[in-house]
Amino acid sequence: MPIHEYVCEKCEKKFEALIRGDEKALCPDCGSGTVKRLLSACGFVSKGNGGESVSASAGSACSGCSSSSCANCGV
Ligand SMILES: [Zn+2]
Repeated sequence: MPIHEYVCEKCEKKFEALIRGDEKALCPDCGSGTVKRLLSACGFVSKGNGGESVSASAGSACSGCSSSSCANCGV
């Protein structure tokens, strides 16, 4: 299960949420849906492993990640 880290844009609380598909994360503090997903391990995955093509599945990966093997978004 992919667990994402979010920050609420209203109260700036950071929290983690388990999101499947296109479910929306809600701030546990103020209940706002205006949250921003934080880049965690996702953004640091190296893309230089053998010229593997990632363009085909890029649309279904988490938005902060262009890797096809991101452990954070479950791809
Ligand atoms: Zn909040």
